[in-house]
Amino acid sequence: MANSKIILLLGAIASCAAHFTVPNDDQDMSGLTVNSLPWDKRVEYMRKTNQALYSQSGPCPFAAFGAIIVNHTADEVVCEGANFRTGDPTIHGEISAINACTAKFTAMGMTPTQIYAAWGELSLYTNAESCPMCASAIRWAGFKEYIYGTTIQHNYNVGWGVMTLSSYDVFQQSRQLPGYQTVMLGQILTNETDPLFSWQYNASAPCPNGCFRIPSVARGGSTCSNTTATA
Ligand SMILES: [Zn+2]
Repeated sequence: MANSKIILLLGAIASCAAHFTVPNDDQDMSGLTVNSLPWDKRVEYMRKTNQALYSQSGPCPFAAFGAIIVNHTADEVVCEGANFRTGDPTIHGEISAINACTAKFTAMGMTPTQIYAAWGELSLYTNAESCPMCASAIRWAGFKEYIYGTTIQHNYNVGWGVMTLSSYDVFQQSRQLPGYQTVMLGQILTNETDPLFSWQYNASAPCPNGCFRIPSVARGGSTCSNTTATA
């Protein structure tokens, strides 16, 4: 009797988890012209975000999180970043890109004050909605804009361990920070960003970008690769 109750309880917990909804996670800005930039331009730069990931980490990295920092006035990518799994837990794609720009601006002779001011003219693109750490960093920087593709909810649903606090909620609690108010645009080009995150914890999901399944010694099961070398 006790055992069946426990089984029922476990079943209830499992079904709750499967239906968990991240509050305020649906910020679909598809089609909108924001800060005078047409929708096509957002799609173009989200595609560049994925391309920056591929150039840094290959066509189907397990950690498929890429970010770029964009100067829309000059219509150019200023810096790139990705989650390089260095062992430093703070090096997510967004932090990686912020670090790259900080180093670049310092090398250009900009002072810390000038660098801090520069973020307010720049836009950060990330192919997946930022975790609370990175969303906080984006608000501390005071970026002009923050644009993301795949949602935290999507990645939760496909098996990623995530912090279930949406960027919307982080931003809502960040309104008293000094400086710029960062504009947030969500769910940009998800038809191309979602597949990058859908295969890691689901062996039946297709690999992106022409990659294929190979056995994974490191992770057990299989992983996606563009080479037959053991992973
Ligand atoms: Zn993060």
